[in-house]
Amino acid sequence: MSPRRKTRSLTVGDDRVGRVRIGGDAPISVQTMTAGYTHDIDACVQEIQRYAAAGVDIVRVAVPERKDTDALREILKQVTVPIVADVHFHFQRALEAVEAGVHKIRLNPGNISDRDQVNMVIDACKERGVPIRIGVNEGSIIERKDKLKRAEELGKFFAGHKSGHMIALMIAKLEEYLEIFDARGFHDLAISAKSMDASMVIDVYTEISKRFDYPLHLGVTHAGPRDTGAIRSIAALSTLVANGIGDTLRISYASDHIDEVKDGLELLYCLGKRPRKGVELIACPTCGRIQVDLFSLVKEVERKLMPELELPMKVAVMGCVVNGPGEAEGADVAVFAGDRRGIIYVQGQRVANVPEPEILDRLLLECRAFEEKVRRGEAKLGEKVVEIIPPDPLGELGSGAAKIHAGLVEQVTIGKSS
Ligand code: SF4
Repeated sequence: MSPRRKTRSLTVGDDRVGRVRIGGDAPISVQTMTAGYTHDIDACVQEIQRYAAAGVDIVRVAVPERKDTDALREILKQVTVPIVADVHFHFQRALEAVEAGVHKIRLNPGNISDRDQVNMVIDACKERGVPIRIGVNEGSIIERKDKLKRAEELGKFFAGHKSGHMIALMIAKLEEYLEIFDARGFHDLAISAKSMDASMVIDVYTEISKRFDYPLHLGVTHAGPRDTGAIRSIAALSTLVANGIGDTLRISYASDHIDEVKDGLELLYCLGKRPRKGVELIACPTCGRIQVDLFSLVKEVERKLMPELELPMKVAVMGCVVNGPGEAEGADVAVFAGDRRGIIYVQGQRVANVPEPEILDRLLLECRAFEEKVRRGEAKLGEKVVEIIPPDPLGELGSGAAKIHAGLVEQVTIGKSS
């Protein structure tokens, strides 16, 4: 993992909904966008609040028509997270959204390019302290009919890269747009350059991160439904975040956007970029050694525990003795199955050995009891009490410790510059 890239920062929000800082040393934030109509006020508020309950930091809404920016004023009174107005084609929508009290504006240089219009938006945002994201999008900066011509013309840029001309165009567009903001002395900005091609997203953001010090909003656009979109998005976004690039992100799926929030947060938890909220579930994939219906068990544990428990406890559900003890040791509450039974551990201490039909209820009971214990200050998360000794886990080859002690393993170089 590389250290986080240093950027400027901006703040989105107000006294009522709270403030989210983007960039600088602020934690990487997670965004999503509403899928319904903004002018349908009740449905829009309900959708935003559903994402807020799932842990989203910022929600963006589309404002294609005047009735959408009109609705914003009421929506902003009812929601509990900062709201961004997504503006395309009509600069007036940005002015109306700012007037309504929106917390941030997104502009697309591909469809609002008149300098005077951009200046009007900048002035309005400056007056109200509203930040702007400049979001170039592969799909909207080039005419489809021009694609081949542009590829030939710009072939020499980023030579050897299959989409070098597109990266060149996105950067040129950003530079051109940023000059307008520079001339106005407006730097309350974040930038993004999305594509549906994961490898291009990695390359374009890597290039942009070297050229601009504004916070970066990451995303793979039009990634598809969650089944395929998750791989595409996580491949690009986790690579960038691991390389220290990215200050806020949106995963976009052509399905329920609640999954954008869940997967965005999970990505950051997994990379250690945000402290986890709620249960971390560890489960084995099962194999020919399995002796219980583990998939159903895991599904039920997930369904019942995830919404209920608030503390970030580690819960392991393992199929047998091979990896069971190891995971049980690292988890706060664990079960590993064998011979149609489940052996349950709480912080390394065996608390139950129950037949398969009783595993779920007993595991849930132990998880709830453990959370209460932590709340009362009688236990600490991640602190095991007793070591579990797995049955002959290593055999005659040993654990590798002897080799390390004998100086036969080179010193770890992670995090050291070569
Ligand atoms: S824990 Fe056991 S059942 Fe699960 S995958 Fe590993 S070996 Fe197979």
